[in-house]
Amino acid sequence: MAWRCSGASNRELVENLFQNGLIESPRVKGAMLSVDRAHFCPSPNTAYLDTPQSIGHSATISAPHMHASALESLLPYLNAGSRVLDIGSGSGYLTAVLAELVQPGGRVVGVEHIRELKELGERNLGRSQRGRELLSDGTVEFVVGDGRRGWVDRGAPEGGKEYWDAIHVGAAAGEVHGGLVEQLRRPGRMFIPVEDTSGLDQYIWLVDKDKEGNVNKKKLYGVRYVPLTDPPR
Ligand code: SAH
Repeated sequence: MAWRCSGASNRELVENLFQNGLIESPRVKGAMLSVDRAHFCPSPNTAYLDTPQSIGHSATISAPHMHASALESLLPYLNAGSRVLDIGSGSGYLTAVLAELVQPGGRVVGVEHIRELKELGERNLGRSQRGRELLSDGTVEFVVGDGRRGWVDRGAPEGGKEYWDAIHVGAAAGEVHGGLVEQLRRPGRMFIPVEDTSGLDQYIWLVDKDKEGNVNKKKLYGVRYVPLTDPPR
């Protein structure tokens, strides 16, 4: 996939993802066009390659086609005013694109368990005028916490129950954590990579909560993410 979709500019990368069917919706395309991936990558020379890249602290910025897939999957729940939780925000790239998709009136919280990466996300978003606005008006906030517990936003009900329209998990979980499902709104959707019982393989799961509160889980495809863990000592 990498050789087909990489580009020499943000526009070329996004156009290639679109031509190859990895981005399907014009909304996802527009949002990815409006966020320059180079602001979130360690090196400007590799920013538009369709590959994951190391961002330090054993973390990676996921490949563009994975970001596209997560956005496409969550899209029905990314609307004006939606509330989104991005667990394992890392570089902050996906957090930034999610913020574009929930305007006006939406809110996106990026959770990181490594303070330096929480600060990296903030710094990266702050590289553009638009990003600085999103941070200063509170549309986007990066916080330090253990994403396995979700996040109780200001103004959320006790325990943060049924609050987030969409939850994106950017690291592989050992299980579909019950606390995260609890924090999903009715209706709401979570995109989460989960290790299988052997611990060797990981699959993306889509977890849907319907209007009545019924939960449905669907296994999508195999992936390779860094694990959702305790913070390193
Ligand atoms: N979406 C990010 C992915 C970064 S890699 C990006 O594309 O840039 C996964 C991230 O999950 C790492 O930054 C890691 O520090 C973070 N992480 C791992 N376990 C975590 C936990 N329990 N709580 C919060 N963040 C966690």
